[in-house]
Amino acid sequence: MLTLLRERLIIKAMEKRECKECGQTLSGRKDQKFCSDYCRNTFNNRLNEDATKYMRRINNILRKNRRILIKLNPEGKKTVDGITLAEEGFNFHYYTNVYKTKTGSQYFFCYEQGYLKLDSDKYMLVQKQDYVK
Ligand SMILES: [Zn+2]
Repeated sequence: MLTLLRERLIIKAMEKRECKECGQTLSGRKDQKFCSDYCRNTFNNRLNEDATKYMRRINNILRKNRRILIKLNPEGKKTVDGITLAEEGFNFHYYTNVYKTKTGSQYFFCYEQGYLKLDSDKYMLVQKQDYVK
């Protein structure tokens, strides 16, 4: 009898669940994750906030890239060194889209501002209306 009771206590302890936000022990339905609406909202708001921060960071990088391309390419077409782009703080990891020509050249765009990597660390800067209708 005693053993059975102990087993039950052990099982109950193993099933012990905690609120994902505040850590309070939960005693409701098995799929319950939060002790209250307040904790659920707080938890979800923080997740959304993180996602928003991440998106804002990426958007800022893309906008900065675009600003740099406009600054270096005010006339709409120009060839610059990769080092010049790097010195301005250009981030090559981020772009909005890629345009591939029939001959296989790949233009990388940050919005309407783009570039094509040429040989020997040169980049041809372009603006979109010239290449994509
Ligand atoms: Zn809670």
